[in-house]
Amino acid sequence: MSIQKGKKYLLPVFIVVACCAGLLITRASNSSNRNRKTETPMTTTSPQNEKARRLAEGLKRKGISDKRVLAAIENVPRHLFIDEELSEYAYLDRALPIEKEQTISQPYTVAYQTQLLELKSGEKVLEIGTGSGYQAAILCEMDAEVYSIERYHQLYLTAKETLNKLGYHPNLFYGDGFEGLPEHAPFDKILLTAAPAEVPKKLLQQLRVGGWMVAPLGGRMGQKMTVIKRVSEEEFRESEHGDFIFVPMQKGTAK
Ligand code: SAH
Repeated sequence: MSIQKGKKYLLPVFIVVACCAGLLITRASNSSNRNRKTETPMTTTSPQNEKARRLAEGLKRKGISDKRVLAAIENVPRHLFIDEELSEYAYLDRALPIEKEQTISQPYTVAYQTQLLELKSGEKVLEIGTGSGYQAAILCEMDAEVYSIERYHQLYLTAKETLNKLGYHPNLFYGDGFEGLPEHAPFDKILLTAAPAEVPKKLLQQLRVGGWMVAPLGGRMGQKMTVIKRVSEEEFRESEHGDFIFVPMQKGTAK
């Protein structure tokens, strides 16, 4: 009788212990395999969190429909990616200046480009133009395996510090995005956040077949958001998705 009683309690205890161990293992593998943060950077009640929520709501009204993109916008504290003096503007739908006369893209543009990526969890994405690191954080939030290149050494350092402080660990590189990262190719998706006059050929070669690039293409007066899909080893298919204005993609690196 007493042995049976003991057995009765042992099973639920075993189940609870097994579940906890399972949870711990899942968390550990998430943080090591991907670049996703391990904690939510904003508490649910902070004023910034409320502002980010309203920003995401506004983007939804403007036509962003991908729920995972909207959730990422809500979760990433944009005010920490810009100069403190500008933080009152952080949750407005505006591009803002960062160091080296570059910009953190307008949230609508970030959301629009990210939506065009149609990211699946775990996909390998190459971003050209780390800038502030905000877009890289959005990609990490969506559980992508993120690679990002920046041509300004100072921006690379600042972005790395900001992202790591928040618990995001994308693979960041200081270099010329025109070269891509052949040693890490192929990528499922490639995202350009600076505009080249025409599509960088070396980057197309770093896409896997079936993958695509989202790129603003055109000169300084404005660009067409373009999706270029690699349909076979040699064949690419292009579609256009509206007019935008980005900072130019420039050759080489700088301090
Ligand atoms: N994704 C950024 C947007 C930054 S603006 C963000 O979320 O903040 C575009 C960035 O592209 C700038 O930082 C600029 O320095 C960078 N850039 C321009 N040409 C580049 C190139 N050839 N290689 C890598 N980065 C480049």
